[in-house]
Amino acid sequence: MNKKGKIYVVGLGPGDIEYMNQRALQAIKDSDVIIGYKTYIKLIEDLIEGKEVIDSGMRKEVERCNLTLDQALEGKIVSIVSSGDAGIYGMSGIMHEVKFERNVDVEIEVVPGITSASAAAATLGAPLMHDFAVISLSDLLTDWNLIKKRIECAAMGDFIISIYNPKSKGRVHQIEEARELMLKHKSPKTVVGIVKNAKRTGEQVVITDLEHMLEHEIDMLTVVIVGNEKTYEKDGKMITPRGYKL
Ligand code: SAH
Repeated sequence: MNKKGKIYVVGLGPGDIEYMNQRALQAIKDSDVIIGYKTYIKLIEDLIEGKEVIDSGMRKEVERCNLTLDQALEGKIVSIVSSGDAGIYGMSGIMHEVKFERNVDVEIEVVPGITSASAAAATLGAPLMHDFAVISLSDLLTDWNLIKKRIECAAMGDFIISIYNPKSKGRVHQIEEARELMLKHKSPKTVVGIVKNAKRTGEQVVITDLEHMLEHEIDMLTVVIVGNEKTYEKDGKMITPRGYKL
């Protein structure tokens, strides 16, 4: 084939088509092939009728990127999809790395999406109105001691902390340890928002505090947002003031 292939790395947003942007929709529409983990493919089922779809298992990221590259080198337009923003614990880093590793010339366009922290924050009210840190508790690819150090530094700096990958069936102690570390520098009364399935079917919201947060359901479909010392709850909303005089 002489046609020049292209790779889109598309962030699908939180999981409802209404929250995908025009560029992401167009990229999917223009693609010959869609590649991604099957849960994400399912989210866009209606958009991809008649296209070649390659779904792959959860832990096969490198394989998925190699496949994507193979397809693009054949001259096809390929979208590799991630939830949220593809550049935040998503596929865009590894996609570029695989391309560099194979030393081939293919255009990669990253299409940003609404990341879980933004989606959850919108549901909670306005918890991210001041400086915040995003920390993943997944220690599959990152040393747990480094994650702990970052949690502690963020807590010490009174950052609002958005926690991704907080807990899975096999990883339960991390969120407990993270809470202990935050309690070294943050008050037990610090407001905490827990949002499961933000901006998609099955959304659940809890506003609690650092002292009680572990009494609520937290899993891999959940983002936990821990406020700063000024964050408060009012009328079921979690607000971090920017500092305006009213
Ligand atoms: N690229 C994604 C993050 C992938 S890491 C993004 O930008 O959002 C996977 C973690 O993201 C999950 O464990 C969970 O903490 C969070 N997550 C993804 N979608 C979510 C949603 N709709 N609601 C709440 N958390 C979500």
